[in-house]
Amino acid sequence: MAAGTDHGVRPFIVPLNDASGAMCRGVSCTLFPARPGAKAIDHSSTSFCHVPLPAEALLGHLHGSAKDERKDFLRAIHRVTVGTLCLSTSNATVLRVAGCIAGRYSAERRVGAPESVPILSFSTQYGPIARILAHAVVFDNYAIESMQLFMAKPDMQNVIGGVFKATVLSYTQKALSDLVDRCGWQGLYAHNQISELWLAEKGNSIAEGDYVVLCIRLASEVLLGRYGLPKPRDPQCLLARHESGVWDEARQICTSLPGGHRGKEFNARILPLSLPLVQATGQRMAYEAAKDAMVHGTDRGLGMTPQVLALYESTCMMEDQSWYVENGIMSRQALLNCNVDAMNSLLPLLEGMVNDPAVDAFINAPMVDQDRLAAFFSSLPSFQGPETEYIRAKL
Ligand SMILES: Cc1cc2nc3c(=O)[nH]c(=O)nc-3n(C[C@H](O)[C@H](O)[C@H](O)COP(=O)(O)OP(=O)(O)OC[C@H]3O[C@@H](n4cnc5c(N)ncnc54)[C@H](O)[C@@H]3O)c2cc1C
Repeated sequence: MAAGTDHGVRPFIVPLNDASGAMCRGVSCTLFPARPGAKAIDHSSTSFCHVPLPAEALLGHLHGSAKDERKDFLRAIHRVTVGTLCLSTSNATVLRVAGCIAGRYSAERRVGAPESVPILSFSTQYGPIARILAHAVVFDNYAIESMQLFMAKPDMQNVIGGVFKATVLSYTQKALSDLVDRCGWQGLYAHNQISELWLAEKGNSIAEGDYVVLCIRLASEVLLGRYGLPKPRDPQCLLARHESGVWDEARQICTSLPGGHRGKEFNARILPLSLPLVQATGQRMAYEAAKDAMVHGTDRGLGMTPQVLALYESTCMMEDQSWYVENGIMSRQALLNCNVDAMNSLLPLLEGMVNDPAVDAFINAPMVDQDRLAAFFSSLPSFQGPETEYIRAKL
């Protein structure tokens, strides 16, 4: 409020403390305990109570009254949308690093007797690793394209950032949880990086807007016709058909519901669909970005190949098998065969992807290498009882 006029919610620059570290008048800050996975930053909660500020502290001006308060507020906090996209792009690298760590561990770890085999030879081990590395390549290309779209289309920024975040982070969270399991007890330890990366990205999935809540807002606004989604380049590609199918289904449910978008039925029937709807769009957009980079040779050395693209596409389809079956596109068996074929085509490339030297600098997990692991164990505190004499068994 200024001179009796409501100017909406407005941002101010507020000093928090002086050069000596003493807090300013009306400002208090509570330091939070350490958060697992947050190596680079700590957290606190800052609150403000009757803080006196000079007029220059107001960001923006007070001329006239705002035409559209909501739009003005969104403009004032537009860096949040930049953060939504920016923070999320790290997930492609995290997937690649975690996939390489799990792959290198799985190549070293052997089981079985008398002829032991590396655990990487089991499809339950190479499968998740290959899928994750294929997603990492596709998401890297999707990140580059989203960044370009974000700058070219200011009116679509929350759609582009929100779809990217929901698609990439929801996949990464499940994938890293899976990789932790595939590395046995060693996967649980922060020094082997995967669990720590998983928790760090879990923080990012909440920061700048939790992705489920982002999806609820995005899907609701799309269904209400307030936003349009980026159109597919090839509406006949399988992921585009799936996307269009699931959105049509949701639109039909929506029109049949009493009580509007704030009603009980919308809450019960549409909200749970929000994440899969947004993911369907993101999976299609990621596929298009990766395919374009492959066709035009603009993948910037990220390793985009037809095998990677086919495995990515088939893995996305496996996530919603019932839709493909229900719409007569493929049977369950055909979907499975397609996924196995895509995996078998990628396997000859897997060793190169796992041992990609570009990733070496990001890996310090002891479990990927026997010498490194031995050096790590010898650095740990150990407690020994007195040595026993050599005792020979007597019969
Ligand atoms: C790493 C990190 C950095 C952060 N940095 C900052 C910062 O610099 N400044 C700052 O101010 N904040 C910061 N935050 C806070 C962040 O913005 C909030 O945590 C985030 O917006 C979610 O709010 P919340 O934690 O209060 O969760 P809640 O609002 O309690 O949400 C919890 C859950 O409730 C459900 N939910 C909530 N609202 C709805 C809804 N409308 N519809 C349906 N379901 C709903 C969802 O399942 C959601 O996941 C940071 C958080 C993290 C993790």
